[in-house]
Amino acid sequence: MTRQRLVVANWKQNTLTAAATSWIRAVEAGLDNVPLPAGLSVAAAPSYVALAACRAALAGRLTLMAQNVAAQDSGAFTGEVGPGMLIDVGIHAAIVGHSERRSLFHEDDDLVGRKVASALSAGLSVVLCVGEPLAAREAETHEAFVLGQLEAALAGIDVSAADARLVIAYEPVWAIGTGRTAQPEQANEMHGAIRTFLSNRFGAAGRDRSILYGGSVKPLNAAQLIAQPEIDGFLVGGASLLAEPFLAIVRAVASDGTVSP
Ligand code: PEP
Repeated sequence: MTRQRLVVANWKQNTLTAAATSWIRAVEAGLDNVPLPAGLSVAAAPSYVALAACRAALAGRLTLMAQNVAAQDSGAFTGEVGPGMLIDVGIHAAIVGHSERRSLFHEDDDLVGRKVASALSAGLSVVLCVGEPLAAREAETHEAFVLGQLEAALAGIDVSAADARLVIAYEPVWAIGTGRTAQPEQANEMHGAIRTFLSNRFGAAGRDRSILYGGSVKPLNAAQLIAQPEIDGFLVGGASLLAEPFLAIVRAVASDGTVSP
């Protein structure tokens, strides 16, 4: 299984149904004009309540994923949505461990690990987010911090069984929604450390995981970032809310280093 390229739009708690379905139609129409190389996929992560409407609007060039998923499949867990519920509405992927879930909703490494295990065993694909806070970057403990998050999230996971269904997103917390992007070389260095960790741990199945970068990715910096050898794609927040900037980022990835106008 070789590394795949992936660009994901994470809308967070934004976008009502009408705007969501127009975005889906606009991006799918835009993708008709982008020759997507083999191995590059594009996905959107709407809110839970917009997933079904977005799915009905899909023409087939995009896939959908949830922004979160519960660690348990069903039961007395008010407000939760389990893996089986996503599959029931035709959604086969979820983001897990986003830094906003970790910091604002107190999801710790143990819970993130349980979510990864339960989602993968239910058959979902998972984009597992890791990333250090500013204090760890300044103290130069960022690598240990991120590898510790991975260690905790993947304890007990059979990565070779999960195969392409497991994608990692490196998102330094200090770069998310701040307009401050990691330098391409900083991101590449961390992606390399993550790949070495996965490779040491899981052999070829670990080495070949797709590793996305997230943190203020924009049309203007996407080309430089994707030109880095360890970066396989992006998880995009703010710049994904409108179709055109998102398409510009996809074009940068499709042309591997050159943003087309
Ligand atoms: C994100 O939501 O994962 C993200 C990286 O946001 P932004 O692109 O706005 O920094």
